[in-house]
Amino acid sequence: MSLKYAVGDLTIQRIIEQETSFVPALEMLPGLTPEILAENRAWMRQARALDDQDVLMLCFQSYVVKTPHHTILIDSCIGNDKPRPNRPKWNMKTDDTYMRALDAAGVSVDDIDFVMCTHLHVDHVGWNTRLENGRWVPTFPRARYLFAKQEYDHWFAENAKAEIPPFADSVLPVVEASRHELIGNDHQIGDHVRIVPTPGHTPGHVAIAMGRGKDDAVFSGDLMHSPVQTLYPELSIKFDVDPAKAATTRRSFLERYCDTDTLCCTAHFPSPSVGKIKRKGSAFVCAAV
Ligand SMILES: [Zn+2]
Repeated sequence: MSLKYAVGDLTIQRIIEQETSFVPALEMLPGLTPEILAENRAWMRQARALDDQDVLMLCFQSYVVKTPHHTILIDSCIGNDKPRPNRPKWNMKTDDTYMRALDAAGVSVDDIDFVMCTHLHVDHVGWNTRLENGRWVPTFPRARYLFAKQEYDHWFAENAKAEIPPFADSVLPVVEASRHELIGNDHQIGDHVRIVPTPGHTPGHVAIAMGRGKDDAVFSGDLMHSPVQTLYPELSIKFDVDPAKAATTRRSFLERYCDTDTLCCTAHFPSPSVGKIKRKGSAFVCAAV
């Protein structure tokens, strides 16, 4: 399995925490009909995007990107010791898979200069913090954590109404430790990192484009979850806050990168998770490289 890519002057490493059956396809994608599922079942199973019970299979992973200047971690997965009673595979887990994967990639928590989150959902912020003597502390002690301001403001307001556990245990402790920065959509890190606003899944969701002066790679976060959505960009998932906007965002993102050399690094597509967007009929595929 490919875990490492080199493109332009970047190296990109996948840090996998889980790759597993998640939610039944017909439940996760309310617009998916049994007929469309039947037409696509064979290739989806072949690609390990669908299990034999028609449950979507997702990979949960971070990307560590080295530019000539910085080491950047994108999306921090699920995390340990976190109460997630609705998700048994995530609830209070204590495995060392994630830390072993970082280690195998030759990366230590001290190496990370920036942590970036495409959005602040539970499976993208988990390893922002870890439990130490009963307190949540930043996992990456030297890192600046960059949160999109619009996304942060949304979850801050929601959390004020009723506690949002991943925000409370994986975002606020970073803020309390003064390790965060709230960034606008025009934010850049040197000439290697740019923000691509991609609202819909959440109000302030962003993709992250990297490469010196051109997009050698783009990290698409949760603007899509399964390769079936490249063929049917109109299919939004039930967790999209604004399904109509998510669909528009998805199609325009796929159009923007279609038939370019940009490596599309998805958050959740089954391994290898990374590919180039190609046109297929009136839609797209993410073709492995
Ligand atoms: Zn996600």
